Amino acid sequence: MQNNKRITMGHLLPVFRFIIFAMVSLAGKTIAAEADIHRARALELAGSDMLHFYVGRCQDNSVTPITGPVSSPMQTFDNLIFLGPNNWNASALLTSEGIIIMDPLETRFEAEEYIVNGLRELGHDPADIVHIVVSHGHGDHFGGAKYLQELSGADVYMSEIDWDMAERDMAENGPRKPGQELPERNKLIENGMVLTLGDTSIEFIFTPGHTPGTVSSLIPLRDGDNEHIGGYWGGSGFSPTGTDLNLYQNSIRRFINIAEARGVDVILGNHPNNDMTIARQYLLAERSAEEPHPYVVGEGGLTRMLGIYESCLMAVQAEFNQQSN
Ligand SMILES: [Zn+2]
Repeated sequence: MQNNKRITMGHLLPVFRFIIFAMVSLAGKTIAAEADIHRARALELAGSDMLHFYVGRCQDNSVTPITGPVSSPMQTFDNLIFLGPNNWNASALLTSEGIIIMDPLETRFEAEEYIVNGLRELGHDPADIVHIVVSHGHGDHFGGAKYLQELSGADVYMSEIDWDMAERDMAENGPRKPGQELPERNKLIENGMVLTLGDTSIEFIFTPGHTPGTVSSLIPLRDGDNEHIGGYWGGSGFSPTGTDLNLYQNSIRRFINIAEARGVDVILGNHPNNDMTIARQYLLAERSAEEPHPYVVGEGGLTRMLGIYESCLMAVQAEFNQQSN
């Protein structure tokens, strides 16, 4: 009888097991709740007008933003033209001394179809392209650069660290598509560098994260009598395994500070299907003379967009930490 009532370690083992199981589950729940809090914060920041950013970065497929084909070419500001298909886009910045192309698409065929033909359609000569700026060393942004350089003799700018990355990637893997070409290493972008062409100056800010050498830009824009400054976030996507999330988050914070100091009030980008381009192009096409420009988000708009990015990044990080525990 006595022996049956004695509590041994053998008896306690299931209890220990249960306590450990409960502790692990609760810890998991805490982290899940943390991710939910970051997601909710991102959704709150997105409101109804920035849902694309939320869906793209938080990968919440339960929310469906406006989709549809982009219009290309489209004059979006007096000195800016949108050029490209739905998946990524180039921009042509018109200056008094020629054209600057931002992110010259994925292949020579795309560059010909969207950039060269698009510029001609709007009455511009592609031979006037003087500078080509590549925000980061991924093929969907540099792939058409060599073709445009051959056509116009333009300089091609990229950060040194992303020239390294792109050259290594092309050497190891080759082009991802026929007609994707990396030009000879040409001009280097330095952090804080200002590129001036005629009456227009662009400022470059290093925002590593999406790639080690991603560059974001501050671009002066004109809409009739109104002047604006576009904040061009160079590289958007992130993942807990493929991205240095701390680096990315630091870049967000730094770019917010600089953009606020410079009075950035327009958001520009290079992926129209996960920024607000589709909705804004539609509004711009329907805009009456009295209406404000739909690309103008006001001071604080870019801060809100990058706030969505940061909250989604923290959600992704929390979920990843939970899964790896
Ligand atoms: Zn990229």
